[in-house]
Amino acid sequence: MFSMSIIKLTSLLVDKLQNLVDAFYHYVDLNHYNRVEAYKLILETFYQAIDYKQSLLGKDLRKDIRLLRMLDSARKFLDTITEVEEKYGASVPALVRETFRRARAVLANVPEDIPRYVIICDGLSIIDMIYIVTRLRKELEKNSMKGFFVAPLINPGGVTETYKFILEPHIYLYNGSLTLDDIAKNITKQLLAKEYIVFREYDRLLHQLKSVHVNTIVDTMFKLTSELYNKILHLKKEFHSVVVLISDHGYDIVTGDGMYKIEHFWRPRSLSIIASLAIV
Ligand SMILES: [Zn+2]
Repeated sequence: MFSMSIIKLTSLLVDKLQNLVDAFYHYVDLNHYNRVEAYKLILETFYQAIDYKQSLLGKDLRKDIRLLRMLDSARKFLDTITEVEEKYGASVPALVRETFRRARAVLANVPEDIPRYVIICDGLSIIDMIYIVTRLRKELEKNSMKGFFVAPLINPGGVTETYKFILEPHIYLYNGSLTLDDIAKNITKQLLAKEYIVFREYDRLLHQLKSVHVNTIVDTMFKLTSELYNKILHLKKEFHSVVVLISDHGYDIVTGDGMYKIEHFWRPRSLSIIASLAIV
């Protein structure tokens, strides 16, 4: 990966995530598993991909070749994120700009009479993002990703503030009180979208979930992700729209004393530093 251009690095990140999204689409049978089980399977895959031993929910992924392939794709994706963050940390703003340029290129192919909506999430895990994209593809019976786009955005600090700085460095330096609403407004203008929604529920909840059982966290996040999914599906079905879903950072489920909590800041192979963008 030595000395790759911004364009190549962006392609690499997008490819790794698209491969992963495809693997989940083909291997997670949303009819076979019920929805919460499908969500848990994606979550378990990621947590086993973070370090090679850890199991969050006690699921054995090794007994099924399809699950092993998903695990392998997830590891490759996380390896790429880690490597880019370590070697190209200084280029993160340029990578984010290039990803937005690609998003605009995808939207340029959308007819003008199709309304565009932007949803900015304060906190959204890459797991939640993959679940939403996969379920939407199943719902809309889209075998290919044609018209869909999904990309990771690295936010090295894993917090909202660094994301604001990455997106609007000039405004941020002069005006520290920049809000997520200001960012949303600007993105909405850039993408020629009709309206935006700032979805703050993830960040609000993840500051409340401290010292609880892992199932409480998983069930809460699944419920919230389903709520967001329904919002997107409604926008798509009711208004035949294109929805751009963006997050500022992810979060990590961590344990110390047998109880679990959610945090979002930098750590090695952290999911907090993975923000994402999807066009669906
Ligand atoms: Zn945030």
